[in-house]
Amino acid sequence: MATEKTFYLETFGCQMNAHDSEKVIGTLRQQGYRQVESEEEAGLILYNTCSIRDKAEQKVFHRLNDYKKLYKEGKRFGVLGCVAQQEGEKIFEKAPFVSLVSGSASYRKLPEMIARLEAGESRITGLDDRQTDETFETEFTARQNPYRGYITIIEGCDKFCSYCVVPYTRGKERSRTSSSVLAEARRIADLGYTEIQLLGQNVNSYRDPEGKLSFAELLAAVGQVPGIRRVRFTTSHPRDFTRDIVDAIDAVPTLCDHVHLPVQSGSARVLKQMAREYTPDWYLERIAWMRSARRSISLSTDIIVGFPGETEDDFIDTMDLLARVQYDCVFAFKYSARPNTPALVMIDAIPESEKAHRLQVLLDRQREIQRSNYSRHIGEEMEVMVEGLNPARGQVAGRSSQNKAVNFTCGQPIAPAPGSYCQVRITGAYPNSLTGESI
Ligand code: SF4
Repeated sequence: MATEKTFYLETFGCQMNAHDSEKVIGTLRQQGYRQVESEEEAGLILYNTCSIRDKAEQKVFHRLNDYKKLYKEGKRFGVLGCVAQQEGEKIFEKAPFVSLVSGSASYRKLPEMIARLEAGESRITGLDDRQTDETFETEFTARQNPYRGYITIIEGCDKFCSYCVVPYTRGKERSRTSSSVLAEARRIADLGYTEIQLLGQNVNSYRDPEGKLSFAELLAAVGQVPGIRRVRFTTSHPRDFTRDIVDAIDAVPTLCDHVHLPVQSGSARVLKQMAREYTPDWYLERIAWMRSARRSISLSTDIIVGFPGETEDDFIDTMDLLARVQYDCVFAFKYSARPNTPALVMIDAIPESEKAHRLQVLLDRQREIQRSNYSRHIGEEMEVMVEGLNPARGQVAGRSSQNKAVNFTCGQPIAPAPGSYCQVRITGAYPNSLTGESI
């Protein structure tokens, strides 16, 4: 009797990785594999890795080390994602029991790589790096999120910001055709999803290989797919952010009134060192477009503090920008050097204690901005999509179109299902969430 083929997959890192894993899971199921919940139960153990943050590589090698004894039981190991691409064949030296190493730019070859693994090969690599023009498309995506369907519209990145590994680990920019994106959006709607999130390292650098639609037109077209009530997109680069995106948000109500536009620093000098290809003025012009839109667009951003050479004055520029934009959410991090990036050779002389201090000053200020921004919603009514329950508070947890977390009480004996919509009156505000009651 043939033994059952099983796999365990653990994902680290960003939303792109989480969605890649949905596609990898779908591909493996097509190859006759069943997904299991633990390393012990699996025949094939896969880690989909991330190298954006410090110590990501060590985390993966620790995990591999913890389970290497399972190799003797005949289990096979594979490392996927950014650490796989970055470390390449060195992984076979550090962890000789690993049989498969593949970066995301090679996932389209997974069926072939898996067949070689099954045939007993022990050093299989998919390390296309920046060579490939192809995207990883499959209709067998195993969607794990019960209420939001993800669609990758562009893979890779050509920006080469000096601190970032992505252009080296995910390859060059490759856009999918608008026809294939829209076909996937219709399939997602047919499955019952009402919210779609378009994904890419740099979504607004999207170039339709068929030459039919711009990014803003694609956004509008996805928003008009029957059954779709919310469309989000992430991540945008200020350099490629065009005014027609704001016009589309104004014109198509299903496009969410939230834009995540990473600024990274408010200092022109630091932005230049980061190779971000824009100035604070350029960035603020795009913010002004959004502030003059008919709809109230919520803004969020990413900021790196303590980039090599960041002076006290540069940091004050970032704080000034924070005060001007009044974001609803900021993801801020201390700079840490990533392998193989140009910033690695810059002198990183800012002590960790000073980086930590700047980060705390920024987060404290931002908390006050959010306290004030969120409290303005008190008394408003808004549509909230249910994401689950908040058992600690006995409330329903959901999200507004502006991507704000909303916890609310609901008078019904049975809680509304994830993915359903409720009209909520906002009665309270915290710096990171709203509270209310369903109407
Ligand atoms: S735009 Fe810059 S930060 Fe974003 S993925 Fe590309 S290189 Fe990295």
